Amino acid sequence: DILGADVTLDDLPLREDLRGRSPYGAPQLDVPVRLNTNENPYPPPPELVADVTKAVHAAAVDLHRYPDRNAVGLRTDLAEYLAASTGVPLSCANVWAANGSNEVLQQIMQAFGGPGRVAVGFEPSYSMHPIIASGTRTEWLAAPRRPDFSLDVREAASVLRERAPDLAFLTSPNNPTGQSIDPDDLAVLVDAAPGMVVVDEAYAEFSGCPSAISLLGSHGHKLVVCRTMSKAFAFAGGRLGYLAAAPAVVDALQLVRLPYHLSALTQAAARASLRHADATLGSVALLRAERERVVPALAAAGYDVVPSDANFVLFGRFAEASRAWRAFLDRGVLIRDVGIPEHLRVTIGTPEENDEFLQVAADVVSQEI
Ligand code: PMP
Repeated sequence: DILGADVTLDDLPLREDLRGRSPYGAPQLDVPVRLNTNENPYPPPPELVADVTKAVHAAAVDLHRYPDRNAVGLRTDLAEYLAASTGVPLSCANVWAANGSNEVLQQIMQAFGGPGRVAVGFEPSYSMHPIIASGTRTEWLAAPRRPDFSLDVREAASVLRERAPDLAFLTSPNNPTGQSIDPDDLAVLVDAAPGMVVVDEAYAEFSGCPSAISLLGSHGHKLVVCRTMSKAFAFAGGRLGYLAAAPAVVDALQLVRLPYHLSALTQAAARASLRHADATLGSVALLRAERERVVPALAAAGYDVVPSDANFVLFGRFAEASRAWRAFLDRGVLIRDVGIPEHLRVTIGTPEENDEFLQVAADVVSQEI
């Protein structure tokens, strides 16, 4: 007997456009092999855990005070990391951070989208983009990728020119399909777009392609590059996303961000975690090597595998993706049904997890599920 359980959604004056929707989220199930949310499978090393604990302890002493609203220390550290990894001279003024890149994306849509404005994405892509558009009342325009899920750059550029969206979302590497957009193609797309272009680089560290950050110097008036510590940095539970852009973009986002959105604990933990970047990012090479092992093994087992530049792989074909997803789960392996007919997505895990997955994948294909 839960208090208030007699009240249903239909009894509430909910926004009409939210009626009938279901919340976003992959199932969180306790199974032996979890390869469904593109996390880094390696837990943080003990030195990192100790350093985070120490930093959080120090921050706890000041918990009666609001945190640094502008997270200057953390943004400076993130700018240093990006500058070192891309060679582009970024500073604190070029970086903004929030609770996961989803919050960064939401702030971008609050500032540059909204009622009467249009955002475009090339689908299938990250399904939170249209959901955040809807939450901010930004009209969403879904443009297609090719049947093989690659991006037709010429076609995409003409969509950007002709539809002239206020915002364009380019995901590189693209989730859930895995392909990257190379910087020359990206420049063509950014040039074609009359509005703001958001390059979602959540999986950049796994990619062999240079970052869109290299275009910021020439295209700072319309380019935003989103990153996250959830994937390569093994900090999904810490919730820290960030972006690189011209300082004016950061000024714009400060108009919509909630004051003190990043807690003192989050800022302290993220900075401590960043001090161990070499150790966490060390796993990236391993995961890339595992991807290069898993892809041909899946193909040899008889699957169609979409080329991937990220830490996940889209594969098929299944008569019914939802039934195949269940078959993997029944065999102890949780992967992702991303809603693409005949396909499922698997995150690259540890070598042991990948072995387990490949074994189950062979079993599933042999049973023609
Ligand atoms: N962008 C893309 C392309 C993603 O795949 C994800 C995570 N699934 C995110 C953004 C958001 O991640 P987070 O909020 O954890 O930073």
